[in-house]
Amino acid sequence: MPQAVKDIPAVDFDKIRKDFSVLNQTVNGQPLVYLDNAASSQMPKQVADRMDHYHRHEHANVHRGIHTLSQKATDAYEEARTKVQELIHADHEYEVIYTTGTTDSLNLVANSYGLENLSKGDEIILTEMEHHANIVPWQMIAKKTGAIIKVIPVTDSGELDLEAYKDLITSSTKIVSVVHVSNALGTMNPIKKIGEIAHENGAVLVVDGAQAVPHQAVDVQDIDADFYAFSAHKMCGPTGFGILYGKKKLLDAMPPYRGGGDMIDKVSFEETTFNVVPFRFEAGTPPISAAVGFSAALDYLNDIGMDQIETREHELVNYAVERVTKIDGLKLVGNSANRASVVSFVFDDIHASDLGMILDKRGIAVRTGHHCAQPVLRRFGVPATTRASLSFYNTKDDIDRLVDGIEYAKTFFE
Ligand code: PMP
Repeated sequence: MPQAVKDIPAVDFDKIRKDFSVLNQTVNGQPLVYLDNAASSQMPKQVADRMDHYHRHEHANVHRGIHTLSQKATDAYEEARTKVQELIHADHEYEVIYTTGTTDSLNLVANSYGLENLSKGDEIILTEMEHHANIVPWQMIAKKTGAIIKVIPVTDSGELDLEAYKDLITSSTKIVSVVHVSNALGTMNPIKKIGEIAHENGAVLVVDGAQAVPHQAVDVQDIDADFYAFSAHKMCGPTGFGILYGKKKLLDAMPPYRGGGDMIDKVSFEETTFNVVPFRFEAGTPPISAAVGFSAALDYLNDIGMDQIETREHELVNYAVERVTKIDGLKLVGNSANRASVVSFVFDDIHASDLGMILDKRGIAVRTGHHCAQPVLRRFGVPATTRASLSFYNTKDDIDRLVDGIEYAKTFFE
């Protein structure tokens, strides 16, 4: 069911679209329609220019240099931390840890908090709709510690079965790790409620926010998330950079995950003591230019306004659902009332990769396959879906082109 649309924001999205030069090209002789934003979003000129400026004029290694250029680079690098703190409403900027992305963030929690706090018979609760990045690290830690993984099932409409969750959770549950918005179904999960139940049972809440932070205002304190992970490249920033938010009292008690430069206090062959958070978790030379680029991406998104982005994308996703569900034979995979930016679908007689290839020939970029979420596709009895994922710079015309492309593709299979 499409959601209600809020008031149309007073933002000129046609003008904004012009910041994304990559969108202004032809692919296979047709104007590009980019509908693979859940995999990676595009970068506006402002972010690319900022990174270029950094490389040309400001580059040096951070933290360890006394010279002016190093200090300049350090300032530019650290700026993103304050901006992320503001974006997600963290209490302190040192609760913001730089990582290489959501996958790295979740591996950090699993290997540091998980390894330290789990023992034989303890339970980790995941959901059937998790991305592999929020399954595999926990499986690896469960194997090492003897912990058990339990899974919250997904309903036919692609929502979490909260009653089943209440039955699953016990006093042995130490960790509940849940995706905020599913990349495969588009479902927006009631994360605050899930966290309340976790906390009532003494477990911590870990949130995979890779598909949430780019599309809506997120308040980690309101959610009461203990850990929250996301990636820069899905929100107009560069690849190779991401964030792990963690509550300070948890981070302070956690051992380092990787060893090396920058994460230490004193090193001798007898003993090493470690730096304070967040630096304890940031060993080695970090992706400095990526942090600078992400800082510019956050300025860019803030200038538009996360509420405006959410409103715009709701309008687009509602339009997409309305249009594609009229296509004969198309079945949505995931039909939650709370949907964000993703529409996933199948046909009985057309394989997703065939459809994806025909769409590509018409300049339309969608993703086909299991979307790194094999368990949930198995739940729906399909090996692959076609997924259109939207960003604020998409247009209704993009969706019309997608629908025309699907109708055209269908003629090959009649
Ligand atoms: N979780 C979800 C829900 C995702 O959509 C993705 C990216 N597809 C990830 C985790 C992993 O993100 P990254 O590859 O940036 O580490």
